[in-house]
Amino acid sequence: MATAILLPPATPHDYHRIVSPNLSIPVDPKISIPVGILACQRDPLLKSLDTTVVSATIVQPPPVEKKKPAKKAVAAPSLPAEPLLHVQLHDTIIFPEGGGQPTDVGTLTLKADGSVWEVLQAKRHGGHAVHYVRVKGDADAAWRAFATGADVTVSLGNEGWERRYDNMSMHTSQHLLSALLETRLDVLTLSWSLTTYPSPCYVEVPRGLSVEEIASIQSEANRLVFEGRRVHVEVEELDPTQPRGNEVAKTESGRAIGKALPDDYTGGVKRVIVIDGVDRNPCCGTHLPSIHNLQLFLLPHTETLSRSSTTNARLYFLAGPRLITYLTSTHNVVSQASSLMSCGAPLLPERVVQVVDERKKAEKRVGELEGELAEYISKTLLADAASQASSGTSSIVHYHRTDDSSNPLGFLSCFHPAHTSSFFHLRPQRKHRSSINTVLVVGGDDKVVKQAGDALKGKLGVKGGGKGPRWSGKFIGVWKAAREGTAIAEIIGDIQNPPE
Ligand SMILES: [Zn+2]
Repeated sequence: MATAILLPPATPHDYHRIVSPNLSIPVDPKISIPVGILACQRDPLLKSLDTTVVSATIVQPPPVEKKKPAKKAVAAPSLPAEPLLHVQLHDTIIFPEGGGQPTDVGTLTLKADGSVWEVLQAKRHGGHAVHYVRVKGDADAAWRAFATGADVTVSLGNEGWERRYDNMSMHTSQHLLSALLETRLDVLTLSWSLTTYPSPCYVEVPRGLSVEEIASIQSEANRLVFEGRRVHVEVEELDPTQPRGNEVAKTESGRAIGKALPDDYTGGVKRVIVIDGVDRNPCCGTHLPSIHNLQLFLLPHTETLSRSSTTNARLYFLAGPRLITYLTSTHNVVSQASSLMSCGAPLLPERVVQVVDERKKAEKRVGELEGELAEYISKTLLADAASQASSGTSSIVHYHRTDDSSNPLGFLSCFHPAHTSSFFHLRPQRKHRSSINTVLVVGGDDKVVKQAGDALKGKLGVKGGGKGPRWSGKFIGVWKAAREGTAIAEIIGDIQNPPE
């Protein structure tokens, strides 16, 4: 009986190829291996590595800047406002940010005492990776623990590996996508962004793409994914004549077109990522040894950028863990919505159109009914006012109504009690401390309206104002007939029979 043994995936031995006879990986443990040929770049699946400390320094946190932080596509793990240890190792599997790929996070374990130290970020300083390590306890003691030559194990840990696997999935997918856009559609990638998980990443291209173009690139990419095209890296020493970032053409937004080395890179290594038969691209990032697991999903439309002078557009894409997260969250949104609408997911758009349509009709009907109601109430008020006038007092009436109208003033504006001064008050159904009661005073005599408005402000704390025949305001809180209602009656009484 044959037994199949499944081994965890490992990076093939020919993944990392030194293509120059003059370049070799430094073996002297006192030397820090330059960025470009770090262990994480030679073997992207390595999760842990034994190595030694080359140097360590205590660095005080920079003074806190008040100004707004620059908008960055990727949120790097934040650094605490306390001293940090900057540690250079002989070699590392914690990738320092670069090439559009963000920093890894991980841990350093000191062999001498087994103590574990958190690596918050790694950055490239010139040509070398520097680990930003959180200081535990006394800073000097921490610094002494990281003496030159000390043995350490550098690890990604679960969190660091998941983060890296996601970054690699998106980065290698971007190479595949950009290569196909260029070779199939002659569309160059101007820039790309490895956004913070789990948002879709995007490439910026000089023009928008049609749904058909996007679909054709997606199916071509997934055909290559199905074939499981291999990826490998070729490195050689740097040609000193290669242009730097500040020497190549730039777009209006200041982004470099094409590939150039960062201005401050001093590592001396040139690195090309090769997807078999598809692409060769200079890059310092960590890349998966194969695209076999990178099912690529392109959002089926491009987003035009609002910069007036360009036609640049963004094409968003997903692959690997992000694609699964995206599918899960999209599925949840759709099932919640279809359960609310009591219909199957495919009927959702139709059902939403129906509900929106019904709401519009209902709103129109409410508007018409409010108009009719206002007319009816106005007639009643005019009759009241007429009977007041016949008994000799000046006619002022108060109308009070409980109503949850979303546009109370709109409703109240339907009243036209010409020649009569009227108080209107709308109270919401639910009464609590922050309930908004709407008050409107209208009338034929501007002076009386102003007098009434002033009294509402003074006696009831109504916030509002008005001009001419109309005064409106808001009363916040619970309106009680015995309290606010009585106050209104007093105000009306004072206007009708001014106190001596
Ligand atoms: Zn790259």
